[in-house]
Amino acid sequence: MMESEDDLDSLLRTIVDLNHACAILEWDQETYIPDGAHESRASQLASLRAVAHAYATSERFANALNRAEESTDPSDDRRTRLLRVARRDYTKATALSTDLVSRLALAEARSKDAWRRARENDDFDSFAPHLNLLIELNREKADALGHDGERYDALLDQFEEGLVTSTVDGVFGPLRDELVPMIQAIDDASQLDDSVIRGDFDEAKQWALSKEIAAAVGYDFQRGRLDKSAHPFSTAFSIFDVRITTRVDRHFFSPAFYGTLHEVGHALYEQGIDPSLDGTPLADGTSLGMHESQSRLWENLVGRSLPFVTWLMPTLQRHFAGTFDGVDPERFYRAANRVEPSLIRVEADEVTYNLHIMIRFELEKALIAGDLSIEDLPEAWNEMYERYLGIRPESNADGVLQDIHWAMGAFGYFPTYTLGNIMSAQIFDAAKADLPELETNIRSGNFEPLLTWLRSTIHRYGRSRTATEILEEVTGVGIRSSNWLDYIRRKYGELYSTSL
Ligand code: ZN
Repeated sequence: MMESEDDLDSLLRTIVDLNHACAILEWDQETYIPDGAHESRASQLASLRAVAHAYATSERFANALNRAEESTDPSDDRRTRLLRVARRDYTKATALSTDLVSRLALAEARSKDAWRRARENDDFDSFAPHLNLLIELNREKADALGHDGERYDALLDQFEEGLVTSTVDGVFGPLRDELVPMIQAIDDASQLDDSVIRGDFDEAKQWALSKEIAAAVGYDFQRGRLDKSAHPFSTAFSIFDVRITTRVDRHFFSPAFYGTLHEVGHALYEQGIDPSLDGTPLADGTSLGMHESQSRLWENLVGRSLPFVTWLMPTLQRHFAGTFDGVDPERFYRAANRVEPSLIRVEADEVTYNLHIMIRFELEKALIAGDLSIEDLPEAWNEMYERYLGIRPESNADGVLQDIHWAMGAFGYFPTYTLGNIMSAQIFDAAKADLPELETNIRSGNFEPLLTWLRSTIHRYGRSRTATEILEEVTGVGIRSSNWLDYIRRKYGELYSTSL
């Protein structure tokens, strides 16, 4: 009996190792790869992925998993949780036929390429057939993965276990109804001055500051690195190697600073997973929504708060001699929280951001259901921006073509961003209740109590607890938007001297 269990563990470790080797190749592709090497890298990745997939769907693995399930004592909680996740991954990996997997891979590769050119040339028509094919393939994928009549459910479940469309509708609908008039009221109030974070900020100094802040909040550089990339991201190759990237804008302070803090939030989660889970499929964030809750918590709830900015000011003045002299924390705080409806999701402020997500959710749900045709998509997009945010894209490049997600075939992904925002407020409220000194701690740059709390309530579990289990344990309730809405109302009502 021991032998079969050992066999499963070593097979799981091999699968984990192969997937992490792919992640290293991808990290390199986004950071240091020479321009001429993209073709060969694509081939290396495809080969290694195929090996990992063959391993994960092999008869040998299936037999080992079956034997382990039969021989495991159900009261062995730790083992049972590992087997549950191993079974879920196996079921997902084997649900799709090799034929469908390769048709998807081919369509995605071609579509990404077509999308890049279409966006450059503001030419939606050249991208439309690719998008059409990806929608058809995603319907086929949803049917293969299985659902109770709502195809979009199967797509959501890939990223957020157990999440169904009706739940998202139930959260997003009321949230949108509250947000639209709130943004209107902010728009009518007098605008905040953000000139203090616009100007000329030496890139090397921004870089040094980002590193110092990452370390200050608890990012462990002995188990990670910070590098530059065009699109910031975080990635883990084990609990002992969790990397982050950022980008620097010489004329705008926020992208490097808050971008780094965001990725640090993701990385703190991965660095905080119980080390004994390393080498198993449990050593990963439990869902995309929970992951995003951690990045948003550090970026917004902590990083864009007045206590944090108050602590930050002397550090800023030290790094940028002359630039921030005499700037009081309030002024920086107002600048960092300026709200302005914009066309581009990744540049959106905290208040308007979720509307960008809701628009994408409504549209992709309709596309998968067949209620919206590709040719009507650009106009539907523009019309929703006008209705929800009061602005209308002048071009498809700034409209329907701006995100890579659909071009990558990622349908059901967008909602996890808003779920993460909502959860971040629920989790932060729970932390405040448990840590009465939290604000004082943040004002004095002592982030350890918060990080320790997050580690013990969320991080350490990895995938051994689902997002729903963790959220219910931490907050006593499931996902709900009221904490986030209260936070927004209070903070921005005060900032804009208006009642929201
Ligand atoms: Zn994120």
